[in-house]
Amino acid sequence: MVRDIILSINDLHIDYYTPDGVIRAVRGVSIELCKGESLCIVGESGSGKSTIGLATIRALPQNAVITRGAILYNDIDILKLSEEEMSKRVRGKEISIVFQDPAAMFNPLFTVGEILLDVIATHLGIRDRRKAYEYGINMLKLVELPDPERVVNSYPHELSGGMLQRVAIAVALSANPKLLIADEPTTMLDVTIQAQILDLLKRLRNELSLSMIFITHNLGVAAEVCNRIMVLYAGTLFEEGYTEDILTNPIHPYTRRLLECIPRAGRRVSRLKFIPGTLPDLRTPIPGCPFAPRCEYTTDICRKTPPPIYEVGYKHKVSCHLYQKR
Ligand code: ATP
Ligand code: SF4
Repeated sequence: MVRDIILSINDLHIDYYTPDGVIRAVRGVSIELCKGESLCIVGESGSGKSTIGLATIRALPQNAVITRGAILYNDIDILKLSEEEMSKRVRGKEISIVFQDPAAMFNPLFTVGEILLDVIATHLGIRDRRKAYEYGINMLKLVELPDPERVVNSYPHELSGGMLQRVAIAVALSANPKLLIADEPTTMLDVTIQAQILDLLKRLRNELSLSMIFITHNLGVAAEVCNRIMVLYAGTLFEEGYTEDILTNPIHPYTRRLLECIPRAGRRVSRLKFIPGTLPDLRTPIPGCPFAPRCEYTTDICRKTPPPIYEVGYKHKVSCHLYQKR
């Protein structure tokens, strides 16, 4: 069965220009997402996850430069659209994004209702205030906000972090996008609320047939939300596969270490595990495998030559020299 591809990112390279040098944040990442699929991009802070998300909706900061690659959404060449076409045709309508900190998304001087009415008028052209109000209330119901009539008249600071994240999801989905990018949407919430927001996203994904890219540093969260996982490190792909394959048969040494760091219910540990060392400095050339300084299997070739990507199973890819021998 041939499945429709909704998003295709090919060999994407993104640099940030800073006074201290050029940060090579994304170094040749390719992603293929089919309609209805959910892909988690997992990696430590600084691995380039958000940069890929922002590039997909063309919202990179001004010091970022896409030096190579292509981003195709259905038949739309995202990198070739003018800014006007991007905001008219794509942003919000086709692809939406939800961020880690919902408070930063909203102007504190406007009520939730005013924010929603503005989005509904801009993207859906509903200018009749009563109709737009009803539409907005239904969006707040969709994200399971209790008492939407009160929420709609509230200012962002009057809502809890969890409620505000639900509002952010309602705003993101109000123009019926087909692809939702969720960038660490639960990281700033406490554990119980995190679980509720994850459940909400899973329900909405199924009910609205959304395709989703979920960005997280937590492989445990990734395993819960997505049917595919991509492990990213220093702007490069380390491993990608169906969630079940990544969890039961992790191939890359880094993925294995990430899995060991997930706390598991019923297993007593005296200290949370972590991977010693840090990401390499992305301003200096990385001649070989970027994980070499932290990897227990490093050999000479790892320090000198970047590992190619090997297919190790059905849609299961890994970038590590260890697999050359197999
Ligand atoms: P986090 O989870 O902390 O957001 P991430 O995996 O999403 O991390 P990015 O935010 O994409 O990673 O950052 C990738 C690299 O680019 C990092 O080295 C980061 O410091 C750098 N970077 C990100 N934004 C900028 C910017 N506006 N200017 C300069 N460097 C940046
Ligand atoms: Fe470790 Fe070498 Fe594989 Fe990199 S390529 S993960 S350094 S064994």
